[in-house]
Amino acid sequence: MEYVDLRSDTVTKPTPEMREAMAEAEVGDDVYMDDPTVNKLQEKAAEMLGKEDSLFVPSGTMGNLLALLVHCQRGDEIIVGEKSHIYMNEAGGSAALGGIHSRPLKNQSDGTLLLDEIRDAIQTEDVHHTITRLICVENTQNVCGGVPLSLEYMQAVGKIADENNLLFHVDGARIFNASAALKVSIKDLVAPADSVMFCLSKGLVAPVGSMLVGTQKFINRARHLRKMLGGGMRQAGILAAAGLISLEKMTTRLEQDHIRAKKLSEGLKNIRGLVLDAAEGTSTNMVYFNLGDEVKLSVNQIVDEMKKRDVLVDWAGPRRFRLVTHYWVDDAGVDKALQALKDVMI
Ligand SMILES: *Cc1c(COP(=O)(O)O)cnc(C)c1O
Repeated sequence: MEYVDLRSDTVTKPTPEMREAMAEAEVGDDVYMDDPTVNKLQEKAAEMLGKEDSLFVPSGTMGNLLALLVHCQRGDEIIVGEKSHIYMNEAGGSAALGGIHSRPLKNQSDGTLLLDEIRDAIQTEDVHHTITRLICVENTQNVCGGVPLSLEYMQAVGKIADENNLLFHVDGARIFNASAALKVSIKDLVAPADSVMFCLSKGLVAPVGSMLVGTQKFINRARHLRKMLGGGMRQAGILAAAGLISLEKMTTRLEQDHIRAKKLSEGLKNIRGLVLDAAEGTSTNMVYFNLGDEVKLSVNQIVDEMKKRDVLVDWAGPRRFRLVTHYWVDDAGVDKALQALKDVMI
């Protein structure tokens, strides 16, 4: 069965070229730092992002957690978006495992946190207060529509961090999508940040894994904590081999996913009962829309009806959907999804 799978870019299975590279990968024990393929991946990721070093981690969640654990002491505070993955979707790991206090700020519809609100949230020295240690931003901001945060914004946040002696972490699960959409080099985009996490396993199509990037000292400590969390992997070169293809070949084709998402959102505008968030959904590989009040179908019924037509979609709220384009969705797939939705929404 050939489904058009628009549930997420995490569903991307490895390409035949990746499977071949995985089968042939030179490997060693990566806990001894002996795996040449992992080492190559880590060097390449650091070089591409313009940072000193990087670490291959099993998931984006572990990458973000490691960043927070390295940057913060127990009782320290992070400034973070209320709609961020770190705050909403990482099972409270920073609090549970790091004793780290979160200061959630409102995400604007363009994904940003207001600069004034960041400044105001920084704690003054007082026996009553936590110590503000870190600012986290998410780029692209998933829940706000997969919106990319501009170079100017990243630089402005970096400046606030510098002026206040704070650290700056970027949850860049889809930072290469941001770079492609903004037409800004990845190095420039992350230059203001002390650390960056990005996912190989999403639009970059690798089966498993994320990268944590930063200074040598930061990565050395993160490697130690990765072992503590049980994330020390042995012949991980099998996975890193796919990640290398992600970096070499997949980072340069993301614009195609963005063009298809745009095509999808244009088509959705012509389907009765769907209300697109005008500003949202069209800048990278995600399209969000709501069901109009007149629509009697539930989101679950729509999911089921779409599946019968060989299109997989997932709801993002009681009346809300998110569709995501990726490597395995071609133009015919977009057309098929639009036709199926047209049929279902009658
Ligand atoms: C997917 C994602 C992560 C981490 O995901 P894992 O599933 O743990 O790899 C982190 N941040 C954002 C914004 C994400 O979309």
